[in-house]
Amino acid sequence: MTYPSNIPSIDPIRLDRLAEVAVKVGLRLQPGQDLVLTAPIAALPLVRRIAVHAYRAGAGLVTPFFADEEITLARYRNSADEGFDRAAGWLYEGMAKAYSGNAARLAVAGDNPKLLANEDPAKVSRANKANSIAYQPALEKIAGFDINWNIVAFPSTSWAKLVFPNDDDDVAVTRLADAIFAASRVDLDDPIDAWDAHNARLAERTAWLNQHNFHALHFTGPGTDLTVGLADGHEWQGGASMAKNGIVCNPNIPTEEVFTTPHARRVDGFVRSTKPLSHQGTLIEDIEVRFEGGRIVEAKASRGEDVLKKVLETDEGAARLGEVALVPHSSPISKSGLLFFNTLFDENAACHIALGQCYSKCFVGGAEFSPEQIAAQGGNKSFIHIDWMIGSDRIDIDGVHEDGRRVPVFRKGEWA
Ligand code: ZN
Ligand code: ZN
Repeated sequence: MTYPSNIPSIDPIRLDRLAEVAVKVGLRLQPGQDLVLTAPIAALPLVRRIAVHAYRAGAGLVTPFFADEEITLARYRNSADEGFDRAAGWLYEGMAKAYSGNAARLAVAGDNPKLLANEDPAKVSRANKANSIAYQPALEKIAGFDINWNIVAFPSTSWAKLVFPNDDDDVAVTRLADAIFAASRVDLDDPIDAWDAHNARLAERTAWLNQHNFHALHFTGPGTDLTVGLADGHEWQGGASMAKNGIVCNPNIPTEEVFTTPHARRVDGFVRSTKPLSHQGTLIEDIEVRFEGGRIVEAKASRGEDVLKKVLETDEGAARLGEVALVPHSSPISKSGLLFFNTLFDENAACHIALGQCYSKCFVGGAEFSPEQIAAQGGNKSFIHIDWMIGSDRIDIDGVHEDGRRVPVFRKGEWA
């Protein structure tokens, strides 16, 4: 099989702008920096443009790694059973070594979110667990924000057909491409300027929340009455921020959220998901969980409940929160009305929480913290980090101070 350098249904000008935004805004790649890049093979046209912009920006060496859906499925359908506990630890150790040497990291999203939906859930779960454990040395450096990193998206056909099931392949790809370009602000004449303005707006929100330094957030809405304690010394982040290597980058393109670290032992009440969660090939719908002392003690879902329960059993921190994020219901991605089946987009359509690993950068001075200090201040530790949506136009949020004083933060899904 060959892949064309241009796909007629994707506008090459905006695709090139997306590559430029990934390098100049997402990574802010510095002269002499190496780049480690992962992508689905379908995204080759975008990856080639990224390489051009990276080398123009002075990249040392760009090293791409590609995944292929057919090869992934070949494993599930032909591998011996023992093979599902294997993972490419050697590769992730090499990536971790590259990040220790200040290489930047770019991931292109675009896999079919339902690729593994019909495969044996036990095998999927074993393979995911083995991969999560093997990935830990590299993930620590990314989650710890040691280096500048970024995720952008490419409209692969299999993904486009899931978002637009009633359209022909080329129409579906064009529509998903347009949605990605709009959300990534590359449909504007000067995307770099637009990103500067957007980053400034997000910085105003985080400054307001950091000034208040709330003890907890209280979410109420249909099926939801949840108090999310915030970690001691937590710091709100959003938009551009500085990695430990001193480079100010935008890890997610698109991004609409402001987010921080909840207290792993101070989350109580119940919450219902407002969008399906697409987790490594399986859709989990209508999640309803109850928290006690920070831990999920009851969990159900109308679909994918077995996968959800396996996720929660991954390790000690998998049933506790590592992130809470605020996104207004009027965000451009929310207004598109689309369900992308991809966290990079769907998490920017609604307020969300994440199970698992916290971000150490979401603590004041967190860059210097030891894992023990992060834990002492309420930060969670886990092999997983999985975002799911709890926001809608019917959610209210109060900020709660330690003395019980309440401040409206969101009303009916919008900033109060
Ligand atoms: Zn988030
Ligand atoms: Zn997250």
